[in-house]
Amino acid sequence: MKHPLFIYNTLTRRKEHFVPLNEDRVGMYVCGPTVYGDPHLGHARPSITFDILFRYLQQLGYKVRYVRNITDVGHLEHDADEGEDKIAKKARLEQLEPMEIAQFYTRRYHMAMDALNVLPPSIEPHATGHIIEQEELVKEILANGYAYESNGSVYFDVEKYNRDHHYGKLSGRNLEEVKNASRELDGVGEKHNQADFALWKKAQPEHIMRWPSPWSDGFPGWHCECTAMGRKYLGNHFDIHGGGMDLVFPHHECEIAQAVASQGDDMVHYWMHNNMITINGQKMGKSLGNFITLEQFFNGDHAALTQAYSPMTIRFFILQAHYRGTADFSNDALQAAEKAYERMMDGWHRLLALKAAPSSSITLEDYATRCAEAMNDDLNTPVVIATLFDACRVINQVNDGSATLSQADIDSLKQLFTTYLFNVLGLRDNASGEGNGIDLTPYQKAVELLLEVRRNAKAAKDWGTSDLIRDRLAEAGFDIKDTKDGVEWKVR
Ligand code: ZN
Repeated sequence: MKHPLFIYNTLTRRKEHFVPLNEDRVGMYVCGPTVYGDPHLGHARPSITFDILFRYLQQLGYKVRYVRNITDVGHLEHDADEGEDKIAKKARLEQLEPMEIAQFYTRRYHMAMDALNVLPPSIEPHATGHIIEQEELVKEILANGYAYESNGSVYFDVEKYNRDHHYGKLSGRNLEEVKNASRELDGVGEKHNQADFALWKKAQPEHIMRWPSPWSDGFPGWHCECTAMGRKYLGNHFDIHGGGMDLVFPHHECEIAQAVASQGDDMVHYWMHNNMITINGQKMGKSLGNFITLEQFFNGDHAALTQAYSPMTIRFFILQAHYRGTADFSNDALQAAEKAYERMMDGWHRLLALKAAPSSSITLEDYATRCAEAMNDDLNTPVVIATLFDACRVINQVNDGSATLSQADIDSLKQLFTTYLFNVLGLRDNASGEGNGIDLTPYQKAVELLLEVRRNAKAAKDWGTSDLIRDRLAEAGFDIKDTKDGVEWKVR
């Protein structure tokens, strides 16, 4: 399969031609959420970024096995090796079972992803369902001499590993920098070295999430799950591992070390990372008062929001930025995205209603090639969007009567929108149902019928019926606009 997709590999720090390990199959793993709270913007960006990659690889004809995990154990309060488990803490505060917490927030996460039109991954493994695999990984690393047991816990020996391999090759750090950065934290405790990280933690008596192991009753270190589950479902060597930039260090650096220490070589071919989201130029954080959940965006119920924003506005906003660039949320930026998204959908609706002429008065640009080239250039979604807007300008010209298009050209534009706007960018049109996977044809026909009755009423100067239909459709959530050529309508 030949195609020129280039993706930026964090490991080599350059764009590389994507060549899968198996000819027509791609294995990709993306770090999923830790399920102890409502999904927020920080969840939206990686899920949408890798949804685009998932969709585009399939568009190119690959069979993709996409694994995105659910972290339901081992993610400790300080993202380090200390502190209470985030899920266990929530369970303690709410007097629930940890699995009730994990189940509840996994469901909330799925609902938010569905709203954002993020396709479900092929496999969504849970860390707690793979304790045995994680213990096996720890045993292998111990057997190879890159870990040590200390007081019932097992730690990765970073110093020793770094003598044989390079610890820090993904994040571009060296061991001295890592040690200096972690020196301010409290003492080494049961670790030999502050830079070492936990592979297995002995549970304190009050710790409720625990499993038996050769070392102690305890739980796996956070980094183990992705190495163990990636290997289980994608094999010892697979194509793509993704996640947010905040995971490069320590999480992904530790994953690389675990893989090399256990199997002798790297597991992942291409590492990809999306940049972070800020709100009004600030990092999002509970203490800053700008922590906004996705549900709050959707219903506008937050002091920092002047209105509600639809899931498609959020998706469109995220795709207007390249995934490796920053994206700064503000009411102004979101309102602009909302208008832009509506303009795009207006273009699509006008395209559906265009009447073909015997011939085209203008030559269409090769928009599909421009879109493909943009996607092949490390998923450059802003350029795809700009190209579709160029196509919208032509549609508007034809709609205004200042240009004509043949049926073949109209069909090629429809194909362009279906492929790139709906299939690749994953946007959804609530009016035509495109991108929803639902056939809204009967419902469209019903609206068209009402509009036809209204047209006849107007022709017969029956203004009462005409106004009644317009007003009732407006009440039901339809925008009806009379134009010189007839009527345009859409769902608000
Ligand atoms: Zn992970």
